[in-house]
Amino acid sequence: MPVIVVHGGAGAWRRDGEDQVHAALRDALLAGGAVLRRRGKALDAVQAAVESLEDSPQFNAGRGAVTTADGSIELDAAIMDGGRRHAGACAAVTGVRHPVALARTVLEGTPHVLMVGRGAERLADEAGLERVDHDWFAHAAELSGPEAVPPGQAADYRRRAAELTPIEEAETVGAVALDHAGHLAAATSTGGMKGQLPGRVGDAPLPGAGTWAEDGVCAVSATGDGEAFITSVTTHEVTALIRHGKLGLQEACSLVLRSRVPGTGGLVAVAPDGTVALPFTTPAMARGLLRSDGEPWTAIGPGEPPDG
Ligand code: ASP
Repeated sequence: MPVIVVHGGAGAWRRDGEDQVHAALRDALLAGGAVLRRRGKALDAVQAAVESLEDSPQFNAGRGAVTTADGSIELDAAIMDGGRRHAGACAAVTGVRHPVALARTVLEGTPHVLMVGRGAERLADEAGLERVDHDWFAHAAELSGPEAVPPGQAADYRRRAAELTPIEEAETVGAVALDHAGHLAAATSTGGMKGQLPGRVGDAPLPGAGTWAEDGVCAVSATGDGEAFITSVTTHEVTALIRHGKLGLQEACSLVLRSRVPGTGGLVAVAPDGTVALPFTTPAMARGLLRSDGEPWTAIGPGEPPDG
């Protein structure tokens, strides 16, 4: 039975604005769910859901992306097709409205997996993807002016930013889906960590770290301490435990998150039989689920979807 699961980032999650967060998660589920309902592909469903989240200022991806230590915006995204076991990704791009669409362009339109910076932006232009200027971004006011970081003071700024906003603004987005044909797909999109050094790339755009999909096994999208998720190759580790270790989805996700990742965060995952897992080791994770015969379910704090 088709299903889509989304996340809007693991972290502390502020209490104000929760209604908008639930509404944005619901919109994303409906966007992805509409694709699945018309018997569309899981790959299109996760792209539609993530594009919807990228347009919301509530999350740290696309429009709501946080700024780096020098006040720039750098966007990372990946999308993976479980049937072909092939991924497309982009990192450190700016001015692209939907980084996940650029990741899809890398997947479909090039022989490459990951493209960065100017080359990736040129590809976006060639593909006719929508470009946006600084005013589009919710944190545009932080882009320049007195808050801009003088050269050589990035480390100081980063420390200050980390003290002020621990993991609170780490609201990366992602989606996983199972379609009518039994195919799996995953996508993740982020603005990175607030105050990160310019040029830093997290786990989100790296297949096997923040994003993985493999038909017959699972699809997983991660959020959390990017460096910890990279070095524990998190989403592939979950897949390997299921494929080789014969663990169930829930068990594999919990084991990796709790005993392999040297940091905190969360995962959303789906198995070929439609089983889902949405674990997190942070106080909260914005997340939602929609089955083809059901109503959207969303949550931020602890709690499980009614039908698992
Ligand atoms: N994992 C993301 C990164 O490191 C951040 C997040 O999930 O909030 O870029």
